[in-house]
Amino acid sequence: MIKTFKLVRRIAGQRMPVYITLADDTLVDTGPCSLHRQVQTIIKEHPVNSVIHTHHHEDHTGNSPWIEKQLHIPQWIHSTGAENCRKNTMLPPYRAVFWRNRKAFHPMELDSDVFKTKEHEFKLVHTPGHAEDHIVLIDQERGFCLTGDLYLYHSPTSHFSFESIAQLIHSLKKTLNYSFEEIYCSHSGYHANGRRLMERKLNFLVQLKTSVMEEYQKGHTPQEIRKILFPSNKMLQYMSLFQNSPMHTINSIINEK
Ligand SMILES: [Zn+2]
Repeated sequence: MIKTFKLVRRIAGQRMPVYITLADDTLVDTGPCSLHRQVQTIIKEHPVNSVIHTHHHEDHTGNSPWIEKQLHIPQWIHSTGAENCRKNTMLPPYRAVFWRNRKAFHPMELDSDVFKTKEHEFKLVHTPGHAEDHIVLIDQERGFCLTGDLYLYHSPTSHFSFESIAQLIHSLKKTLNYSFEEIYCSHSGYHANGRRLMERKLNFLVQLKTSVMEEYQKGHTPQEIRKILFPSNKMLQYMSLFQNSPMHTINSIINEK
């Protein structure tokens, strides 16, 4: 049984959806602390006996400390994310206002690349790029992938300073080696044609990388490349509120050449 829940954070005219998923009695991600009422209601109305996180970010682990205190159930995360979870977050202001800081909690480190629930056998695939500890969960038999924040959008030009375009490209390729058609994205929800969308994102990033490198090799600075390739500052771009910028995309590509 797969069930997704859409949570929506509304603030100052901005809407940001977050999806959490229940796979039988395992909750995949716990949503942001700022939406704790909705998350607690979902948890109280459904049997939840374990939690697995796609990565440590505050909008995916925000209710995990509450779960630790109230439910005493096993919670898991990739080994490279455990340390981050054992500390309270200290977010930059925009993210803190939107999602709220998360208190420390103590997940166990995943020690296998397979995770089984009653009806599903998930292949856990380490997919860094958005976050070092990022994983996706793939049920090849049922043909779907829980993509966390790996997909988000098919043609992103804007990224965070902590993201790596080279790693994102590698992780998309790695994920596409598995068999699935549908995806469940943590911010854009369910896509029946998810595989096609992920291929589209992969091709987009590869092309973007080529375009940036062509300009760089002509001797242009990162600022000039931004003006050439991204002339309009798209204020409405997904997550642009959060110090998310094409400059980070360009710098990541140039620094990883
Ligand atoms: Zn994230």
